[in-house]
Amino acid sequence: MSEPQPGPGRLSSPKLLFAKTPTEFNGRFQSDLAKCRSVLKKILKTQGPRTIENTLEPFDELSRRLEELLSQPKFLFDVHPDTAMRQAGDEAYQEADRFATELSLNRDVYDALAALDVSGETSATRFAVKKILRDFHLAGVDRDDATRARVKALRDEITAIGQEFDKAIREDVRSIHVGPADLEGLPDDFVKAHPPGDDGTIAITTNYPDSVPVFRYARKDSVRHDLMEEYLNRAHPANLEVLARLIAKRDELARLLDYDHFADYITADKMIGTAAAAQAFVSKVATVAEPRAQGDVEELLARKRQDVPGAQALERWDLNYYTELVRAESYAFDAKRLRPYFEFRKVLDGLFGITSRMFGVRYRRISGTPVWHLSVEVYDLYRGRQRLGRFYLDLHPRKDKYTHAAAAGLVVGTAGRRLPQAALMCNFPDPEAGHGPALMDFSEVETLFHEFGHLLHGLLSGGVRWARNAFGGIEWDFIEAPSQMLEEWVRDPEVLRTFAVHHETGEPVSADLIAQMRRAEAFGRAYEVQRQLLYATLSLLYYTRDAANMDTTAVLREAHSRFPLIPHFEGTHFQCNFGHLNGYSAIYYTYMWSLVIAKDLFSRFRAAGSLLDPAEAERYRDLILGRGSEKPAAELIRDFLGREMQFGPFETWLREAG
Ligand SMILES: [Zn+2]
Repeated sequence: MSEPQPGPGRLSSPKLLFAKTPTEFNGRFQSDLAKCRSVLKKILKTQGPRTIENTLEPFDELSRRLEELLSQPKFLFDVHPDTAMRQAGDEAYQEADRFATELSLNRDVYDALAALDVSGETSATRFAVKKILRDFHLAGVDRDDATRARVKALRDEITAIGQEFDKAIREDVRSIHVGPADLEGLPDDFVKAHPPGDDGTIAITTNYPDSVPVFRYARKDSVRHDLMEEYLNRAHPANLEVLARLIAKRDELARLLDYDHFADYITADKMIGTAAAAQAFVSKVATVAEPRAQGDVEELLARKRQDVPGAQALERWDLNYYTELVRAESYAFDAKRLRPYFEFRKVLDGLFGITSRMFGVRYRRISGTPVWHLSVEVYDLYRGRQRLGRFYLDLHPRKDKYTHAAAAGLVVGTAGRRLPQAALMCNFPDPEAGHGPALMDFSEVETLFHEFGHLLHGLLSGGVRWARNAFGGIEWDFIEAPSQMLEEWVRDPEVLRTFAVHHETGEPVSADLIAQMRRAEAFGRAYEVQRQLLYATLSLLYYTRDAANMDTTAVLREAHSRFPLIPHFEGTHFQCNFGHLNGYSAIYYTYMWSLVIAKDLFSRFRAAGSLLDPAEAERYRDLILGRGSEKPAAELIRDFLGREMQFGPFETWLREAG
C-alpha cells in the first residue's frame, strides 16, 4: 500500500507560549487538555473493527497534542522572564505528565491499538505501531490494577521530584568576588565586560559565560579553586535529599516492572538495549582512551610543576587551565586568538550560510510575531518555495533563564497536518549587552552548531506521516549523533573561511591558525573522553545500585576512583548539580555512544572531499534527518553508510593528532 502524498502542513502557533498572563495560559492549557480527553473518549467509543482511520489516526493526533502540552509548558518554565508564568508552566507540565502517565496505563486504549491489523501497511506505519505497543508494555499497561495504580503514583512523584531537582540547580547561581588583579590571564573582552563595582570588587558568577573563561584562563589558582568550589556545589545541600528520593522512586518503579534496576529499564528501548551493554561500552572506550589519557596527564602535570615545583597531582580546578596552557605553549595555540574571528552575529550568519548550502534550505527572518522576550528572533525554514517549519532563537543569558544550551521541540510536524516548530535556548555573549563586540569562544561556536543540529533534525523530519515517527520517536542514544557530527564543520578550514573573519580587520582566519587549533585540540582529547566516561559511569552507578541508604557522595568518589586521572574535589557535590541525573537518569553514556556513530557518519563526508559538497549532505538529509524515526536508527545509519555502524572511525579519531 502506498502512502498518501499530503501537502505541507499548516503553520499553527505554539499558542501556550504566547499567552500574556498565567490566567490566559491556564485557559488555553485546560482547553487543549480537554481536547485530548475528548479524542481519547472517541477512540474508546468506536465500535466494530479497529482501523487506521478510527484508531491509529486519532491516537496519533492525541500523541501529538500531548507532546505539545508537555514541551511548551516545559519550555516556558525554562525561558519565560515572568515568575508567575514559569510557575504556571511548571504546574501545567506536571498536569500534562500525569495525563500522559494515565494514558500509558490505559488498558482499553492498548487493546484497541493491539487489535489493529497493520500487515498491509507500509513499514513506517508498522514501525510506528510497534513502538506504540512497546511503550505501553514498558509503561506496565498489562499489569494488574494495583500495580498500575502504584506505577502511576510513582511516575507522578518522579516527575515532581525531577522538577524540584532541576529548579534547585537553575536557581542557584553563585558568585565569587575578586579584585581587578585576579583577572590576570583572562581575555581583554572578558575583563572589559567585568568592571569593578562600587566596592572595588568584581563579581564572577557560576554561569557559563563567566565560569568557562575563568576555568580556562585565570592564572590565579585561588580564583579557579574558589569558583570551581562554588560551581560544583550548586544546589548543595538542597539536592542531596532530592536526588536520594529521585533514585529511590525510580528504583522502586523498575522493580515493580520486573527489572533488576532502573538502568536496565531505561535502556530497554534504546539502541544499546541493556545497562550491562552500556557498561561494557563504557569500559571498551575507557580501555582505548587510557594510554593516551595517561600521556595527556603527564604532559599537564609536567607543565604544572613549572608553576608549582614538586606538584604531585592535578586538581580538578587545574584541568581546563593547564590544558589551555599546554595547548598555547607546546602546540603554539591560544584559544583566545580565535575569539576575534567569532563575533556572534557573523557566526550565526555563517551557520545559516553553511547549512543552507549543505541541505538546500534557506532561512527567512520573521518580524511582528509574538515572542516571550524581546531578544528572541523568529525564522522560517524553506526548501525552494516550500516552507518546512519555524524556529525561535533565544540565545543570550538573562535572569532566571535556563543556564545551559539546548534545543526544544514546540510543535510536532507531520505531513499534511502541521509544520514543525522548535527553539534554541542558549547563553552566548550578547551583542546588545553594551560590552563591545560579542566574541565567542570556539567551544561556544561548537555548541551553537551542535544545538542547531538538533533543531534542524527536528524541522527536517517534520514531514513524516505519524507523530510517533517524528523527532520525538528517535532512539535517545542516537539523537546526539547528527549534532555531534555537525560540530566537525567548525573544525574545517574550508568551512571556517566562509564566516570566521576578524571583527576589526575583516581578515579571514588563516589556515595555519586552524591547523594549530586542530593539533592543540587533539591534545587533551583522550582526557576529555575519560571525563565523559566518568559522568557515564556515575549515571549508571546511581541507577544500578540498591537505592536504599545510598550515599551519593560516596558513589561520586567511587566513580572518580575508577578514573584516577580525574581527581575528586573533596568538599564538593557534583551530583547535586549534575542535571542529567534527572533528564537522562542512567543514560549519560548516550553522548559517547552517539559520538561513535557521529565519527562513523562523518567518515563518509570526509571521504567525499569537501564538507560543503551538497550531494553527500542531501543524501544524509534524505536518508537520515528527513526520516525522523520511521526506521530503527541502526537501519537509518546502514542506509546512509551502506554498511553496519563501526567503532573504527571513533578509535582513529581518538588516536589521531589533529
Ligand atoms: Zn545535544
